[in-house]
Amino acid sequence: MAEVLVYVDHVDGAVRKPTLELLTLARRIGEPVAVALGNGAGDTAAALAEHGAVKVLTHEAAEYADYLVVPKVDALQAAVEAVSPAAVLVPSSAEGKEIAARLALRIGSGIITDAVDLEAGDEGPVATQSVFAASFTTKSRVSKGTPVITVKPNSAAVEAAPAAGAVEALSVTFSAAATGTKVTGRTPRESTGRPELTEAAIVVSGGRGVNGAENFAIIEALADSLGAAVGASRAAVDAGWYPHTNQVGQTGKSVSPQLYIASGISGAIQHRAGMQTSKTIVAINKDAEAPIFDLVDYGVVGDLFDVVPALTEEVKARKG
Ligand code: FAD
Repeated sequence: MAEVLVYVDHVDGAVRKPTLELLTLARRIGEPVAVALGNGAGDTAAALAEHGAVKVLTHEAAEYADYLVVPKVDALQAAVEAVSPAAVLVPSSAEGKEIAARLALRIGSGIITDAVDLEAGDEGPVATQSVFAASFTTKSRVSKGTPVITVKPNSAAVEAAPAAGAVEALSVTFSAAATGTKVTGRTPRESTGRPELTEAAIVVSGGRGVNGAENFAIIEALADSLGAAVGASRAAVDAGWYPHTNQVGQTGKSVSPQLYIASGISGAIQHRAGMQTSKTIVAINKDAEAPIFDLVDYGVVGDLFDVVPALTEEVKARKG
């Protein structure tokens, strides 16, 4: 069976959820071989094996932390040359997309970014993308070289599928370009204790209807009752009510959670572009004609200042 390389996104050995989702998708195409780089790479093996990695290629070197993406591209290229995989899967983070694009160029392959699904095809893996502000769903396959495909978080379930997960050291020779861009400082973001927006299973977003920075507390309260991330429309961000890092949409982040709750958001095409692939969409809006209601699974016509706190109380009560 063909091997499929999966690039491992991890923090000091703790594997992030999108990588486990990639292992689910990789198993549809072949046998997943994970590539874990940098500090704690070896510590990823147990989690990767539990989710289907037949092999884990590891390489630890200071270059992965000290320089931007090129050392990782060098390592992935070495892995491609060692394994001759049927495809290379990379999480669709900003860094993941840069790594994937550079790798595809290096190995002379085609690339598909931001896939939301993946299946085996007669002539190679077929990726599903949601394009033009989610107005169309396309299916594509790479027709040149080893397919390099980035996949959006929440595109597949995390499934336990125990496999050998044999750890092998990857031999990497860094290119001259590897040390071209040095990291000169790192400032950790203050933790909110909430999940990362693009990886969250549930996102609760607020828009102009929230009517003030202080009122975002009710959006946060609902999010916290559900263990969700908080999103915001551009109108709310432009008004200075919530940080740009939380903006959902064409010029913000693209999310695809199991549940997206939009409160006081009209549903402009640029907002939809960032959330339309969510599995279940709920909107709370006092205007029954708001365009957001065209794409919802459940709509509540009402004042968010009544509905959102009531929903929060109900969630808390049901949780006991
Ligand atoms: P509005 O459109 O003003 O809607 C507010 C809604 O709240 C209304 O439907 C109203 O009925 C409802 N409401 C008001 N009070 C209450 C209440 N008490 N209870 C319940 N409902 C209430 N937008 C994004 O979101 N993300 C982007 O990334 C983005 N990128 C853009 C890029 C470009 C190039 C351009 C031109 C625009 C972009 N926009 C983006 C802006 C987008 O076009 C809309 O202007 C924006 O999404 C509107 O935000 P909103 O829905 O919060 O506000």
